[in-house]
Amino acid sequence: MSKDRTAGLDAAVERISRALGPAGCITEPERIAPYLVDFRNLYHGETRLVARPCSTAETSEVVAICHELGVGIVPHGGNTGYCGGATPGTGGDEIVLSLARMNRIRALDAANFTITAEAGCILADVKAAAEAADRLFPLSLGSEGSCQVGGNLATNAGGLNALRYGIARDLALGLEVVLPDGRVLDGLTSLRKDNTGYDLRDLFIGAEGTLGVITAASLKLFPALRSVETAFIAVADPAAAVELLARLRAASGDAVSTFEYLPRIAIELTTRHVHGVVDPLGRPYDCYVLCEVSSAREAAGLREVLEGCLEQALSDGLVLDAAIAESIAQRNSMWKLRESVPEAQRAEGASIKHDVSVPVASLPAFMAEATAAVLAIIPMARMVTYGHVGDGNLHFNVSEPAGADRAAFMLREAEIQGAVHEIVRRYRGSISAEHGIGQLKRAQLARHKDPVALAVMHAIKQSLDPRGIMNRGKVLPD
Ligand SMILES: Cc1cc2nc3c(=O)[nH]c(=O)nc-3n(C[C@H](O)[C@H](O)[C@H](O)COP(=O)(O)OP(=O)(O)OC[C@H]3O[C@@H](n4cnc5c(N)ncnc54)[C@H](O)[C@@H]3O)c2cc1C
Repeated sequence: MSKDRTAGLDAAVERISRALGPAGCITEPERIAPYLVDFRNLYHGETRLVARPCSTAETSEVVAICHELGVGIVPHGGNTGYCGGATPGTGGDEIVLSLARMNRIRALDAANFTITAEAGCILADVKAAAEAADRLFPLSLGSEGSCQVGGNLATNAGGLNALRYGIARDLALGLEVVLPDGRVLDGLTSLRKDNTGYDLRDLFIGAEGTLGVITAASLKLFPALRSVETAFIAVADPAAAVELLARLRAASGDAVSTFEYLPRIAIELTTRHVHGVVDPLGRPYDCYVLCEVSSAREAAGLREVLEGCLEQALSDGLVLDAAIAESIAQRNSMWKLRESVPEAQRAEGASIKHDVSVPVASLPAFMAEATAAVLAIIPMARMVTYGHVGDGNLHFNVSEPAGADRAAFMLREAEIQGAVHEIVRRYRGSISAEHGIGQLKRAQLARHKDPVALAVMHAIKQSLDPRGIMNRGKVLPD
């Protein structure tokens, strides 16, 4: 680190410590340690200070100090992100800014169907607050017990209900943001309609902390659900899954809230590695769908719709077998299987991951082509392709061949990813459907994003953060 940077950092640490007091600062190495590594243990960084402001005013003060002294800031939510966005760099010249103490629900307006939550609120707590008011906040992630609303918006999280309710961006009405110079942008509206110029809110959603610190958000609520039907369905092939989705959406009046695809290997791995997971169908099939239809109406007749649709699909050869959950326990058991896939894959060994999306109708062709491309490189690789098929989003993951040399397998990562992402590009898909870019995919963004879009992103970054203090080395390629 240069002499100037060291002096700036010393001064920033000293001034922030004075401004926030002991409750707002972590400086002891053993307490800082968890902030220095990402959820997947891919990135390790350094910092001397974790600032933990408890209000927007305190956040603004911290950011203003860093702006004045040219010190980098890494916003930190629940640290469940998959791309290393919340992990500082190795230079030790940035501070980490944790939003964990900004965890108040500021308002809930049941009549307006809105909730205003601070960025550090745990997602599950926001959902619980909505439920207590007989409302639904539909964002649903496997990490909801620890991820934060600020992190969800900064990564524009998708999750399990995006098909019906949209992604984080669709659920936000307004944001409060501390800009890189410390000014507070108060966009905390709960209006549905506000056509007064450029939409600034959307700039910060999905920016992964590179344009400012989200301190609060007003979010959309929906009527609480009164009836839910869950089915675990063996389908003939991916094309049958896509056709079944279209039929179910039409037959149910667009009440399909979840439509998740799973291959046979997902069941083999979860039942092998995760205690309590059972195969809902007993007999093996090649591929499956976990599907949910739901309604805010008590007697919505969803069971009849689901059964009718499945019967027809069975006689048309799209569906081979199905189980409809008869109890909460059975429903939970089906969900446990789906949510255990990442853990089971980890336990099975190394994997090369892709979080891609293509238009829903193109999924079967994409899957066939991309699978063939991977197997041409590593013939015995195991394809664990699963995910939010209803959104055209696949976790196109490649597990190492049984008994393979882990290091040798991972050496092929760039080659495999290059081949898969080329196919994604041909389908006009995305190389990061919901997990973002962070540190992990910067080089790939440079290769696959439209150069004009990249130039506009750089221009926005330069205009909002000319000193380049916000989340250095994340998202934008150099
Ligand atoms: C088990 C599991 C399941 C998951 N399932 C899904 C899924 O279905 N769909 C999905 O999209 N993701 C999923 N994820 C990924 C992850 O949970 C989401 O990306 C989540 O939105 C990250 O929130 P976080 O609070 O943990 O953010 P962090 O990991 O702390 O940070 C993520 C990024 O946001 C920035 N950031 C955090 N807070 C702020 C703020 N207040 N202001 C500005 N920038 C900020 C950070 O700098 C970083 O760049 C899953 C993760 C796990 C572990």
